[in-house]
Amino acid sequence: MQTADVVIIGGGIVGSSIAYHLTEAGFRNVLVIERESHQGKGSTGKSMGGVRAQFTTPVNIQMSLYSIPFYAAFDQRLDHPAGYRPQGYLFVATKSSHLQYLEKNQQLQKELGLRDVRMLSRNEIIDMVPQLRSDDILGGSFCPTDGFVDPYSAMTGFIKRAVENGATVWKSAEVTGVLKNGARVKGVQTTRGDVHAPVVVNSSGAWAAEIAKMAGVDLPVTPLRRILIPTEPFDGVSHEIPMVIDMTNGFHFRPESRGFLLAWNDPEETPGYKFDFDPDFIEKVLTRAADRVPCFENLAVNPKRAWAGLYEMSPDHHGIIGEFPELPGFYAANGFSGHGVMHAPATGKIVADLITTGTTGVVDNVAVLSPSRFKSGDLLQETSLL
Ligand SMILES: Cc1cc2nc3c(=O)[nH]c(=O)nc-3n(C[C@H](O)[C@H](O)[C@H](O)COP(=O)(O)OP(=O)(O)OC[C@H]3O[C@@H](n4cnc5c(N)ncnc54)[C@H](O)[C@@H]3O)c2cc1C
Repeated sequence: MQTADVVIIGGGIVGSSIAYHLTEAGFRNVLVIERESHQGKGSTGKSMGGVRAQFTTPVNIQMSLYSIPFYAAFDQRLDHPAGYRPQGYLFVATKSSHLQYLEKNQQLQKELGLRDVRMLSRNEIIDMVPQLRSDDILGGSFCPTDGFVDPYSAMTGFIKRAVENGATVWKSAEVTGVLKNGARVKGVQTTRGDVHAPVVVNSSGAWAAEIAKMAGVDLPVTPLRRILIPTEPFDGVSHEIPMVIDMTNGFHFRPESRGFLLAWNDPEETPGYKFDFDPDFIEKVLTRAADRVPCFENLAVNPKRAWAGLYEMSPDHHGIIGEFPELPGFYAANGFSGHGVMHAPATGKIVADLITTGTTGVVDNVAVLSPSRFKSGDLLQETSLL
């Protein structure tokens, strides 16, 4: 019989960060179980890698205030590159309601300690990205410590250090059931046999609801397809620009390699495990791209290089982190709704803190993230979604 102190289901960036933080806290017998032959084949390897603290709720802002400095110090701390590039996020407002919204959010962000976030005038935006069509731009919001990381590399750094600290990773091993001892979790059933453990953490990304079902608990996480379109090399816009978000329609883009990465969240998308996409989608994105950045009309795109991945959506678009009161020992680290890479460092620390001490200093009120909030109806609301 295999035993572990903690079993972590899913070896993406969230599971890897949890393994890292647990082993840094002194745990040695930590087992990460990943059903794919390689880690990162879930959402982590499909991510746009954006990191930002420009959110609207205290808990999301505080998770970023732990995570972004963590990424800034990652290479030194873990002796492995996270690829953090502090090029900023620039929200471009085209309505006065957008400006009011950004100003209100900034007030909260500053109160919580985000020093460098600031409003920009139309002219400052034009200086920053001269190629934007600016006739309707009223101003915007910019934070220079926001930016991008390399999600795959960050995941690798977390798991490498966790293994050096004593953790074990099983690949090509699928969790097929959750074992219970009365009302407590007892371990997991896997394609490699049973593992007994007093603590089991669900970090299985967009598949998290299926694992929760195996444990007999409800976890409202649904998969939602997101598509990214990388362009061919293009030098008509600087590669030092921030992530730019056109608040008119949600189109956003950032430099990637010698080209750009284009994204737009289709409001007509429906939940499901979907990875295919229609070439019409590329046309919809390119139309929005050329509308905001006229020289993008000349962008070359190879549809074969575009990809689709899954957001793991929760009903209030916040992570679901904590122990299930109805199944002690069973923890959720799920539902990040498109923010799982940027919040992976904070999530790992919070889960490790909860397992070791039952509380955490990363956020003021960790209870707001608890899986039990869906029963009590105490939901959060994050409106700054990309
Ligand atoms: C197109 C796109 C763009 C994105 N952009 C951003 C961004 O800019 N910034 C950001 O922060 N986030 C972004 N995200 C979201 C981010 O990628 C996810 O929130 C994050 O990767 C979640 O990490 P995870 O480890 O929880 O999940 P995953 O990386 O999906 O890992 C879960 C793992 O669990 C494994 N698994 C599932 N079931 C089982 C089982 N039964 N047994 C064993 N293993 C199992 C899977 O194989 C998988 O490897 C984006 C996502 C997509 C799709």
